[in-house]
Amino acid sequence: MSAQIIDGKQISATRRAAIKDEVAAFTAEFGRKPGLATILIGEDAGSQVYVANKHKACEEAGMESFGFALSANVPSEEVEALIDRLNADDAVDGILCQLPVPKPLDGDALSQRVSADKDVDGLTEASAGRLALAAPGLRPCTPRGVMVMLDELGVDLTGKRAVVVGRSNLFGKPMAQMLLQANATVTIAHSRTADLPAVCREAEILIVAVGQPELVKGDWVAPGAVVIDVGMNRTDKLVGDVAFDEAKEVASAITPVPGGVGPMTIAMLLANTLDAARASEARRAG
Ligand code: NAP
Repeated sequence: MSAQIIDGKQISATRRAAIKDEVAAFTAEFGRKPGLATILIGEDAGSQVYVANKHKACEEAGMESFGFALSANVPSEEVEALIDRLNADDAVDGILCQLPVPKPLDGDALSQRVSADKDVDGLTEASAGRLALAAPGLRPCTPRGVMVMLDELGVDLTGKRAVVVGRSNLFGKPMAQMLLQANATVTIAHSRTADLPAVCREAEILIVAVGQPELVKGDWVAPGAVVIDVGMNRTDKLVGDVAFDEAKEVASAITPVPGGVGPMTIAMLLANTLDAARASEARRAG
């Protein structure tokens, strides 16, 4: 039997429409729009497109966005001073420094300078610590998007066996933490995992983020498993980390690439910006 195809475009669109309504309510209540500041350094064409899409998404959601485009040879101190200024600016709820940044700038160090309260990428040490301790905080966008997808599917994670393939700080580790907090029993696999196919076959929820085209074969998937493919690999076309045509014959539900997890990330950036704005107003009130 062929799996249900999880429509990330549809889920993202529905979320973005709901966020737009919530932004309107926030704006009416507090007399200002939630605001996202982006820092783009240099001329990288891909980064320019990503940042332009984030501004467009903000506009569509009724949010304010503030763009700072700096030249590739900007001194690090100048970027640090800008981040400090944005950290202190009450009109700015979220800050993101588009990566990668040109050398010799240190993109990770610059990103770490963003206040945890405005860290809408959810990738600072402070945000990772809050997630690990299950404390309130901003969560990384892509794993947050996967949790929304699982929720939309009606998956109750309590007691379920979840396997996350990939242990990056960007995705794998925060994904595993979120599944754990939702009471799944979680295994994290990586390039040194022994017998990866057998580990994958244990999964009722299999989430793959490795960056290897079609690594996970159909016979690595347990019958009836939910398969979430985070991978985005450009071969002659865009393919995921899962051999989709094989896996969909075994899984109960599966995300396609493109049109699966990808569209969720920007929706969750908007959700994080709105959450940060609400938290900022709550701190101001009391
Ligand atoms: P990453 O930082 O390169 O990490 C890849 C992880 O996969 C590492 O933990 C690595 O293990 C593991 N791995 C690599 N080859 C493996 C193999 N043959 N068997 C088992 N594990 C293997 O990548 P990432 O940033 O997490 O991204 C992963 C993929 O997701 C990429 O295709 C990326 O484009 C995509 N992605 C998409 C979105 C989105 O849709 N918005 C967001 C984030 C990422 P080791 O730690 O042992 O090296």
